[in-house]
Amino acid sequence: MKKKDFPQLLFADEAGKVYPFEGLEAAGMKAGRFFHLDPAEFVKLPDFSELFMLPGRVPIGFDPETGVPGPLLSDPYSKEKKKCFAVAAFIPPGHSITHSAAFEEESGVPMLPLFSYAACVYYKNAFYAAAIQVDRDFRHDERFMDSGLIEKNIKNYTDLFPKNRLVPHLANCATVNACANAKNFFLGRFEAPIPTSPVCNAQCQGCISLQPDGRDFPSTQKRIAFVPTAQEIAELSLFHIEKVEDPIVSFGQGCEGEPTLSGDVIEKAIQLVRQKTSKGSININSNASRPQTVGKLFDAGLNSIRVSLNSVREPYYSLYYQPKGYSLATVIESIKAAKKRGGFVSLNYLSMPGFTDSVEEFQALKKFIAEHKIDMIQWRNLNYDPLHYFRDLGLLGKNVELLGMSHVIHNLEKEFPCLLMGYFNPQLPALKNAT
Ligand code: SF4
Repeated sequence: MKKKDFPQLLFADEAGKVYPFEGLEAAGMKAGRFFHLDPAEFVKLPDFSELFMLPGRVPIGFDPETGVPGPLLSDPYSKEKKKCFAVAAFIPPGHSITHSAAFEEESGVPMLPLFSYAACVYYKNAFYAAAIQVDRDFRHDERFMDSGLIEKNIKNYTDLFPKNRLVPHLANCATVNACANAKNFFLGRFEAPIPTSPVCNAQCQGCISLQPDGRDFPSTQKRIAFVPTAQEIAELSLFHIEKVEDPIVSFGQGCEGEPTLSGDVIEKAIQLVRQKTSKGSININSNASRPQTVGKLFDAGLNSIRVSLNSVREPYYSLYYQPKGYSLATVIESIKAAKKRGGFVSLNYLSMPGFTDSVEEFQALKKFIAEHKIDMIQWRNLNYDPLHYFRDLGLLGKNVELLGMSHVIHNLEKEFPCLLMGYFNPQLPALKNAT
């Protein structure tokens, strides 16, 4: 590469304004180690991406002459040598990040809030993120969401279902939490979210619906405060199913705990729906901690389960999930209960560059997919501070062998040609084709 023809580091000044700096080549980070970025694995910053200034984080880049990584200690464009900060990209759904933003923490800084932090660069007159597009579905694309129609339908649905407590809850999700599924519910398309559980039997480090007191950041959403009745659930589910061409109704949302803990009410609701229609796909997003309940829900008419995990290896699963009264072995029992009943099983695979693309995790994942006949991987960037994650797992700075996220994703496609890869819960025709 000619000098200056490399991806340039981005930094933010004290006011949060972002600049490229041609004196340093941008770096990516994995487990606290720094890596060169390959332009072949860049995506142009998609619409609705956000650039974050990372307070208390010093940007790291490579000296283009020596290739040695080092910090950008002050704003190179300020005469007073003011402070500068690392910059990361938060990119829209459907993209899997390959490297976290490269930085060093100043001492005593609080943890970063619950987002993912992709490396981003300035390259050939444009901004890019280190990421791979894993799903082209536009269902969460803000460009195609009519906020006027959402507002109008919030009013219409409130008039239609004045006593259904899920309507005001979902209206808040759509308008305050910017939940794309809640917006789609009010737009009458794709997947309707049906939260049911105020409680959970895990305590994920990065849980978005509840964080214990004393952490550096809040949860990004509040948990639903009530368990809806089977009638409330069935009423909205049927409404959505009847309205939409290939509808999905999903339990297990960002604004709740673990839905199988409301298993009885969900089971009754699914029965009510299935008495009226076989149309549509009923799905549960779950930590899969209750195999018997999972079995009952499939018996009642559930079509698919998306099982969330950060790792298919017990020590790392437990360090992140902090499960109460169950383990990864129980999760596997739930997968077996679903498969035994012909259910479609996705992994909601919470990925973090440096962990997910390690040789050991990849080998374990391949074994897991083959043994349990997993139907789909949904690639989700783990929304968590990328240095603290490795601290939590006891892996910070460890020199583990890495394959690269794109190798992992493309290799799985080759080794498991029937495995669906993507980001979103599939609709019923896709489920039928896959099983
Ligand atoms: S399983 Fe879900 S609700 Fe429960 S702690 Fe983890 S992220 Fe939160």
